[in-house]
Amino acid sequence: MRAAIIGAGPAGTLSALNLYEKAEVIVFESKQSPGFPVKCGGLVSSDCFEELKKYCRVEKALLNRIKGAFFFSPSGKFAEVTGKTGGIVIERKILDSMLLKKAGEVAEIRMKSKVLAVSGNRLKFASPEGENYITCDIILGADGTESTVAVELGFERPEIFSGKQYLIEFEPMKKNMVELYFGKRYSDGFFGYSIPVSDDLARVGVVSRKNPSAYLERLLRSHPSVSERAGKSIIEVNLGAVPIGIVDFVGENAALIGDSAGMVKPYTGGGIYYLLKAAEVLGEKFPDLHEFKREYMRRFGKEYRIGEKIRRLYDIFDDRDYDSLIGIARDIDFSRIHMDRPSTALEALPRLLRIIKNISLSSKVLMAFLDL
Ligand SMILES: Cc1cc2nc3c(=O)[nH]c(=O)nc-3n(C[C@H](O)[C@H](O)[C@H](O)COP(=O)(O)OP(=O)(O)OC[C@H]3O[C@@H](n4cnc5c(N)ncnc54)[C@H](O)[C@@H]3O)c2cc1C
Repeated sequence: MRAAIIGAGPAGTLSALNLYEKAEVIVFESKQSPGFPVKCGGLVSSDCFEELKKYCRVEKALLNRIKGAFFFSPSGKFAEVTGKTGGIVIERKILDSMLLKKAGEVAEIRMKSKVLAVSGNRLKFASPEGENYITCDIILGADGTESTVAVELGFERPEIFSGKQYLIEFEPMKKNMVELYFGKRYSDGFFGYSIPVSDDLARVGVVSRKNPSAYLERLLRSHPSVSERAGKSIIEVNLGAVPIGIVDFVGENAALIGDSAGMVKPYTGGGIYYLLKAAEVLGEKFPDLHEFKREYMRRFGKEYRIGEKIRRLYDIFDDRDYDSLIGIARDIDFSRIHMDRPSTALEALPRLLRIIKNISLSSKVLMAFLDL
């Protein structure tokens, strides 16, 4: 059995590493090296970091350890929150190249080979040697948000948000805490963030339904707290799409995995943990792709549904709602909330509703969660 994986980002390489015992695997990658330019803040949960150790020496990619987050309202009020798991900031360029090297030990990797078209089980690709065709039994589209496989095979597409991020001089509140900046002044439907990579450098970015550049400039120049702490030197600029909403990712002899399928936490934009788990379930169930989908959705379907409801709150809340929430944050127990498992936040919901004094705010929260 031959499986062709399109894309050598983490979804493609982790799929190869989970499939090679069951199939001859060929990975096609259009670029010379994946993971560059970087489109990632590099923040993963410490559980995800531990699980990545099965595949490569991910410690080599470690930049910083994170204990929790400061949540900021648009007026600059903030609350310090620590959940069940900490986080790790990694360098994606290093992670992606380590995973590629490992995948190369068990699969054939064809770099600079761009898949142009897919018809049935035939792929047309362009490499430095020219255009060519290959046939395979299973096609896996790990080719990111602009997936050729998805378009060619008529898969449904997720909603696309956009992210813009700078690696910039920045004085974090604390070096081991990320910061999240909420409010409609700083994003349409999402939030801004800073992820410290050292004492004086951070990845500061915005994910938004549209126009992340304008929101990021506003965050840096006029946010009451960020503008006081952001420097002028921009070391790196990263731009990328964030797919929101998992799609039906399995078809006839083909499946999507990773960003191509919208396998991203809808309330944070983080994709690495969910694609890692998808690659593992794919490996368990291969070559039965329908069973892959059933099992993955059994384990994670609820997380996507609740994650999308949390994200919907970013559309619903206004600036005063964030001020009210920051005001009561210290009375909420976040210690059981896992950053990869939004369902764990449901436990805090009854208490939250009890302590919210503002009727309009509690009805917004109820509205978002009512159809669970
Ligand atoms: C601004 C921003 C910040 C983010 N921050 C985080 C974060 O902090 N933590 C986190 O977990 N996630 C984060 N993410 C999400 C994370 O980066 C993605 O979920 C992850 O990169 C998806 O991996 P992938 O392998 O599915 O896709 P990609 O990494 O996009 O890889 C797809 C690969 O397919 C190749 N390809 C595409 N088309 C073809 C073709 N036709 N033929 C051959 N090859 C092809 C591409 O060249 C690419 O190498 C962030 C995303 C953005 C945009």
